[in-house]
Amino acid sequence: MTAAQLERIHDHLQRLRLFKSRERLEALLQEASTHELSYADFLDQVLTEEVTAKTAKHITMRTSLARFPFVKGLESFEFGYQPSVDRKQIQALSTCRFIEHGENVVPLGPPGVGKTHLAVGLGLKAIEHGYRVLFTTAATMLTTLSKALAEGRLEDKLKVYTVPRLLLIDEIEYLPIDSQGANLFFQLISRRYERGPMILTSNQSFGSWGDVFGDRVIASAILDRVLHHSITVNIKGDSYRLREKLKAGLLKPKLSIEDRADSETTA
Ligand code: ADP
Ligand code: MG
Repeated sequence: MTAAQLERIHDHLQRLRLFKSRERLEALLQEASTHELSYADFLDQVLTEEVTAKTAKHITMRTSLARFPFVKGLESFEFGYQPSVDRKQIQALSTCRFIEHGENVVPLGPPGVGKTHLAVGLGLKAIEHGYRVLFTTAATMLTTLSKALAEGRLEDKLKVYTVPRLLLIDEIEYLPIDSQGANLFFQLISRRYERGPMILTSNQSFGSWGDVFGDRVIASAILDRVLHHSITVNIKGDSYRLREKLKAGLLKPKLSIEDRADSETTA
């Protein structure tokens, strides 16, 4: 191969934005000649490296655009600690078929039981499957939409929350939601209804959403749409945060009834 040819290949790869192949060109050519690779094997290797690099870059970019509060996958979720979470159900959700079917996933449960972790873990799976994902909290979304309404830019801001294929709305709980806020929430839910799947987390049972939104009529209109195609993940367990404090010795463990009986008899 001549120097001019090598330079030309470099330029072509640059122009085609095949940056990994450009960076690895000399090494790949060298390896191919050392191992006497066939033309097909060589091409396969070059393209596989390029696709792997592009996929990784895509995932990193979409993960940062999703604005997760932390990046923790389902792999780090300890199912053993939270028996009320059905591992099989979460595995089924991680195939992202719920997204294709336009279904919502609603993790419910008290603070610290892993609702946000599960939502983020499923969001990351969605990104791996090539979907655009956005994470927000109910409070942040309502502040943004109220401000946009006041500034006459509501349509634009609603688009921010309707364009991503999967929207995660975390922490639907007792907030100072006034009737305008409840209305904005309803507008967003209506726009995504049957088109855009969502993951919504709450520490309140559906029965309390009337109080959360300060209006039973609007809450039932919201719930009606959210629950029409939905999968609820009810988590009934202890806070994982509490367990970490227990482990660090910051809290005394609560004695179980048997332990207490034992210590009373030995005292
Ligand atoms: P919630 O949203 O229900 O209040 P989080 O998802 O924020 O709870 O969980 C609190 C912290 O505990 C997070 O750092 C999360 O990663 C961790 N956590 C919760 N449940 C588990 C679990 N079963 N396995 C591993 N980490 C967990
Ligand atoms: Mg949370």
